[in-house]
Amino acid sequence: MNTGASPFSSSAPPIEQRQMNQHSKGGKAEDRLSNGDSESNSMRDQQPEAATFPASNSHFKQHWEEQENGQGSSDVTLEDMYNNSYEFEDDEDDDSDWEPSSQDQNVLKITKWFCVNCTMDNFGTGVHCEFCDEHRRSGIINYGFLASPLSKEESLTVNEADATVRLKDLRLKGIVADSQTAIGFDERMLLHDEVEMKSRPHAERPDRLRAIAASLAATGIFPGRCSPISAREITREELQMVHSLKNIDAVELTSHLYSSYFTPDTYANQYSACAARLAAGLCFDLATSIFSGSAKNGFALVRPPGHHACVKQAMGFCLHNNAAIAASAAQRAGAKKVLIIDWDVHHGNGTQEIFENNKSVLYVSLHRHEGGKFYPGTGAADEVGTMDAEGYCVNIPWSCGGVGDNDYIFAFQQVVMPIASEFDPDFTIISAGFDAARGDPLGCCDVTPTGYAQMTQMCSALSGGKLLVILEGGYNLRSISSSATAVVKVLLGDSPEHNVDQVIPTKAGLRTVLEVLQIQMKYWPSLEPKFLKLQSEWGCSALLDRKLLSKRKRRCSMGPTWWKWGRRRWLYRVWCKNLSLDHFKGYN
Ligand SMILES: [Zn+2]
Ligand SMILES: [Zn+2]
Repeated sequence: MNTGASPFSSSAPPIEQRQMNQHSKGGKAEDRLSNGDSESNSMRDQQPEAATFPASNSHFKQHWEEQENGQGSSDVTLEDMYNNSYEFEDDEDDDSDWEPSSQDQNVLKITKWFCVNCTMDNFGTGVHCEFCDEHRRSGIINYGFLASPLSKEESLTVNEADATVRLKDLRLKGIVADSQTAIGFDERMLLHDEVEMKSRPHAERPDRLRAIAASLAATGIFPGRCSPISAREITREELQMVHSLKNIDAVELTSHLYSSYFTPDTYANQYSACAARLAAGLCFDLATSIFSGSAKNGFALVRPPGHHACVKQAMGFCLHNNAAIAASAAQRAGAKKVLIIDWDVHHGNGTQEIFENNKSVLYVSLHRHEGGKFYPGTGAADEVGTMDAEGYCVNIPWSCGGVGDNDYIFAFQQVVMPIASEFDPDFTIISAGFDAARGDPLGCCDVTPTGYAQMTQMCSALSGGKLLVILEGGYNLRSISSSATAVVKVLLGDSPEHNVDQVIPTKAGLRTVLEVLQIQMKYWPSLEPKFLKLQSEWGCSALLDRKLLSKRKRRCSMGPTWWKWGRRRWLYRVWCKNLSLDHFKGYN
């Protein structure tokens, strides 16, 4: 769940169970395992710097000191970094946890704070986030997107007491009333959190669920118009429908560890295994309830997310694959054909792997791909399924960031809905990440709540309305809470604000759609007339304008630069050198 300039590894390393280091949030010593890595970090922090260099090795000491003082980088500019013309040395340590030292801070006294809404670092005494404009003391966690982004004091559209009462009601466990929209939520999923204290919170954080739940409560949707479903932990036997014992045992093991990591970005604490089993259990029961008709449709407000979790391994913030489990549960309840539509900005490599040779589950994913540079790198248009299930995997890979409502709706109209109608599912699941939403710090796309509502509306027409929406990624609290609320409103029967008869795609979007149509029409005959019509109307200009494509690709691949530049220490120093000191006068 990530940008093209990925902070994640492109392939999942083996499970790493490691000890929390001395920066962690406390905890009992007996809960910890030891490992050389964390010990060496602690040693480095505690020992005097000169003690690490033998007196005889003055050359290396001088070089090291120059590096630390920034003297070795005097010629590096932000422009060099932006153009990638400066190469970092391979043997430099990863310094993602690096913080300015007191010596650095004497050069420029800067106050740092991270934004509660988007987690980005901000510097100075300003009260609004430079990236998303959210107020520094935003009420987003308590009120969701109804909180004012500009002023803590500004009056809210709901009163505080009312919202608090509604949130408490979420703890009640209930039975789904007939023909209602069901919501799956349990507060124990908020306990899954990263233990190690980093410079800013992990993007996949408990506040994501709090903000969405607060929005649903404050708008009177849940509790109110939707029914809660009782939460339970999924069983090992049910997990084995999609996962091997390697995945199940590895996740279970984390409940005995204070802090552990499956990949550098996929954390676990002692509550994570329970949270993952609750998320999967809620998705299993929602699918069963909806397919059997005891609920009309449903929204799984769950974490950890699932679509990167493969048969054997957890990765990409995902421990168990919730959507795959829901699909298998629906089939256990009698569904012959299940459709999974995945609109998370990242390709659901786990879901694809689980069903790639299974004709009874059609997997359709829209995601940033950029020739495999965007995490997780899979999901090219020519990945169509294997064995005799070719055509039952449909990938719509965007070639750049910034993709908005029009391209998504256009792809739905031209590819997703024609294939889905021809497949004619008994049950439909949406892997609903909201990291393609406008304002998301990782996805950098431009889908609005209205866009998500329109896509949900189209999906509601499938499988007799038997539709389960499952939360995946999405990291801007304001964006995910407004988008999720718009989706649930459609599940309740409200109509989206605008109709979508006339949609004009971007050239890049059109090119992707044409590529997918050309590949998939071998398996889905209804696509051929669409491909020929589009090619005659738009095709020539779209396919010939290669110059524009390569220019746009270059521009898009630059995006969020703080990931791409990587080393915080270098960036900080170059940034300080390049910006006028006057810029900071108002801050300190
Ligand atoms: Zn994602
Ligand atoms: Zn922000």
